[in-house]
Amino acid sequence: MKIAILRERADGERRVAATPETVKKFIGLGADVAIEAGAGETAGYADAAYADAGATVGDHGATLAAADIVLGVQGPDPASLGGAAPGAWLVASLNPVGERARVDGYAAAGVEALAMEWMPRITRAQSMDILSSQSNLSGYKAVLDAAAEYGRAFPMMMTAAGTVAAARVFVMGVGVAGLQAIATARRLGAQVSATDVRSATKEQIQSLGAKPIFVENVAGIEGEGAGGYAGEMSPEYQAAQAELVSAHIAKQDIVITTALIPGRPAPRLVSDAQVASMRAGSVIVDLAVEQGGNVEGAVAGEVALRHGVKIVGHRNVPSRLAADASALFSRNLYNFLSAFWDKDAGRPVLDAEIGDAIRLTKGGAVVNPRLVS
Ligand code: NAD
Repeated sequence: MKIAILRERADGERRVAATPETVKKFIGLGADVAIEAGAGETAGYADAAYADAGATVGDHGATLAAADIVLGVQGPDPASLGGAAPGAWLVASLNPVGERARVDGYAAAGVEALAMEWMPRITRAQSMDILSSQSNLSGYKAVLDAAAEYGRAFPMMMTAAGTVAAARVFVMGVGVAGLQAIATARRLGAQVSATDVRSATKEQIQSLGAKPIFVENVAGIEGEGAGGYAGEMSPEYQAAQAELVSAHIAKQDIVITTALIPGRPAPRLVSDAQVASMRAGSVIVDLAVEQGGNVEGAVAGEVALRHGVKIVGHRNVPSRLAADASALFSRNLYNFLSAFWDKDAGRPVLDAEIGDAIRLTKGGAVVNPRLVS
C-alpha cells in the first residue's frame, strides 16, 4: 500500500496534504509513503523532515508511480495522475460542482475520487471534517486581516493623550468561521455583535460575550436546514433582515461576513448602500467572496475601496495560515483513512454511509448521485 503526496499546483495554494507527523502515522499503519520534493516547503515543512519521518522524497513521476492512494489539498489535473495504480484513490478537496469537468477527467483516468468536503456532518466524522478545520482558521485570520487594514486600534485604550474607543465588530454568519471570528475579535478587545439565520446560534453568540442581532417575529426564523446548515430564507425574512442590518451596520467599524448556503451561491447580506452608510476607514472582510460574495462590491483576490470603506476579498484564506491549515487538513485525512483501516487488507475499506457520500468516481464512471441526477 503506497500513499503519495503531490506538490500543490493551484495558484496561491501554499498548503500540503500531509505533514511529517501524519507521514509517521501512516507508516505506523504499515503504508509506504512517497512525497514530491518541495511539497511542504510553502507551509514550512522541509523535505528533510519528511525523510526523517520515513517518507521517500522524489520527483512527481517517482512519487506517483504505482501509488494506491494520492493525497491532495486541492484536486490535481487529471492528466497529471498517469502512473498511479489502476483504481487508485484520490483524496482531496475536489470542488465537485465547481470543477465538474475535472471529475469526468478523474473517471476517465480510472481514479476513485473521494471529495473530502462532502463528508457527512455526523458525530463520528467530525475529526475528518476539512470544512470545519479550515473555516476555524479562516474566521481567525479574517479578524487579523481586518485589524491589519484598519487604521485604528481594536481595544479601548486610556492614554495620557486621551482615550481610543474600542472597535465595533459585526460578524454575519455564525458557523464555524463566524464563532472563531467572534472569539478572536473579543480577544483583541473589540465590542462584538453577530447575526445568523439559525436561531440556535443566539446562545452561542452570547456565550462568547457578544451581542446577538436577530430578526424576531418573522415566519421561517428557525433557518436550519439539513445537516445543521442554513436554508434559503423567505422574502419576508430577507426584507426584515436587511432593515435590521441597515440600522446596525451604519454604526460598525468592522464587518466580517461568513454566510454560506450549501449548493447555492452565497447570500447577499450587505448592499452598496449599506457599505456607503459606514464611516470612512471602516473595513469589511467577505469570507464568502469565492462563492459569489456576501457583500456588494467585494472582488475575489482584491482589497476593494468603496465609499472610503475597504472590502477585503482574499482568496483561499486558510492558505494564508499554511502551516496550521496543513497540519489540521493532514490530520483530517489521516483520521479518515485510519478510521477505515482494515488490518487484514492492509488498506482502508469504506462503509456505505461515508463512502457513498464522498465517492465521486469509480470504475471509469461518475457515480455520486449529487452529480449524476
Ligand atoms: P456554513 O459555512 O455553511 O455557513 C456559515 C454560516 O452562515 C452558518 O451559520 C449559516 O447559518 C449562516 N448563514 C447562511 N445564510 C445566512 C444569512 N442569510 N444571514 C446570516 N447568516 C447566514 O456553516 P458551517 O460553519 O459549516 O456550520 C453550520 C453548522 O454545522 C454549525 O452549527 C456547525 O456547528 C455545524 N457543524 C456540524 C458538524 C458535525 O456535526 N460534524 C461539523 C461542522 C459543523
